[in-house]
Amino acid sequence: MPLRHGHDLLAMPGPTNVPEAVLEAMHHPAVDIYGGGLLETTRACHDHLRRVFRTRHAVYVYASNGHGAWEAALSNVLSRGDEVLVLESGRFAPGWGLMAEALGVAVQTLEGPPRGAVDPEQVETRLRADTERRIRAILVVQVDTAAGVVNDVPAIRAAIDAAGHDALLLVDAIASLGCLPFELDAWGVDVAVAASQKGLMTPPGLAFVAAGPRARQAHKGAGLRSRYWDWTEREGPEHYQKYCGTPPEHMLFGLERALEMLLAEGLDAVFERHRLLAGAVRHAVEVWGEGGAFEFNIVDPAQRADSVTVLRMREGFEPAPLVEFCRDVCGVTLGIGIGDLSGRGFRIAHMGHINAPMILGILGSVELALTTLPLPHGPGGVAAAVRWLGDELR
Ligand SMILES: *Cc1c(COP(=O)(O)O)cnc(C)c1O
Repeated sequence: MPLRHGHDLLAMPGPTNVPEAVLEAMHHPAVDIYGGGLLETTRACHDHLRRVFRTRHAVYVYASNGHGAWEAALSNVLSRGDEVLVLESGRFAPGWGLMAEALGVAVQTLEGPPRGAVDPEQVETRLRADTERRIRAILVVQVDTAAGVVNDVPAIRAAIDAAGHDALLLVDAIASLGCLPFELDAWGVDVAVAASQKGLMTPPGLAFVAAGPRARQAHKGAGLRSRYWDWTEREGPEHYQKYCGTPPEHMLFGLERALEMLLAEGLDAVFERHRLLAGAVRHAVEVWGEGGAFEFNIVDPAQRADSVTVLRMREGFEPAPLVEFCRDVCGVTLGIGIGDLSGRGFRIAHMGHINAPMILGILGSVELALTTLPLPHGPGGVAAAVRWLGDELR
């Protein structure tokens, strides 16, 4: 007896729900790539992206997914044989490290706590021990979408400075840009990467790299530069050079509209919306978890991300029936567990184009699944979420 009808909802951490206005902007005939409105669209996208990354410096747009942005960041500032330090907190920073390794970069890893954030003190200690200053760059994610953790980027910057180390700071903001505060210039981030399909409310297919002055300096001597990703190439005078070929026109039409929506709402309001909706999810989960079937993956509440909540099943419980019920009966696609939570966890995304009825509907669907399957759970998770939201809004 499916209750599924009309619009399904994506509650997985990418791709996320795309606003109608963004889809409409993409519903457009192909246009001339040499002139006319497309040049203005490129200019607008770059301007808007600078505002979202909070930088006065350069932003590069690639027809790729987030993995492409990883390669773009590495290849523009590093050379074969360089060393990087990966700050582990879940799955994605090590994944970025694997890409560095494949490019011929030597990778060291600062192991993270299995269910928590990078510890800035350990970063400082590790960098102080690098007396020969061999580490050229530090790779860290702001929000790890596999673990559901948020790292404190300014504190990591402060740790690098306290160690007196000159390594570049490279930040993966793919699951946080447009959801949580991020400040490239003010935080002293050298390179940040993002992609279209998470907080930026656009279908998958575009990736973004923002680079500060120290990264641009390192770029001059980077031996891994390749024609497609190369920043200098993309700064050439011709419009097609910005994309190293045909611009991904329809993606750009959608992106321009999505960024306009974010900026019209105001980034502070966007961040507050994410904080409130994430808090609602966490209050529901807190109550459901009392039943003993699952718990938060991230142990310290202060380290739980405002863009995705990751749940870990307790011994003897499986996530699959819950995820399948939500999808097949309610039309709500939760994220499955990945990495060490593969088959052992699930994820509720709250990033991008989401609002109260969407989140309350997602939570209601999960509670319906818990009740119907059934899975042991504390009663009244949705009520707890509503109560908390009410207190915050009053
Ligand atoms: C989704 C994600 C990626 C990978 O992005 P793709 O577009 O799938 O290549 C990388 N890092 C983080 C933190 C992500 O959430």
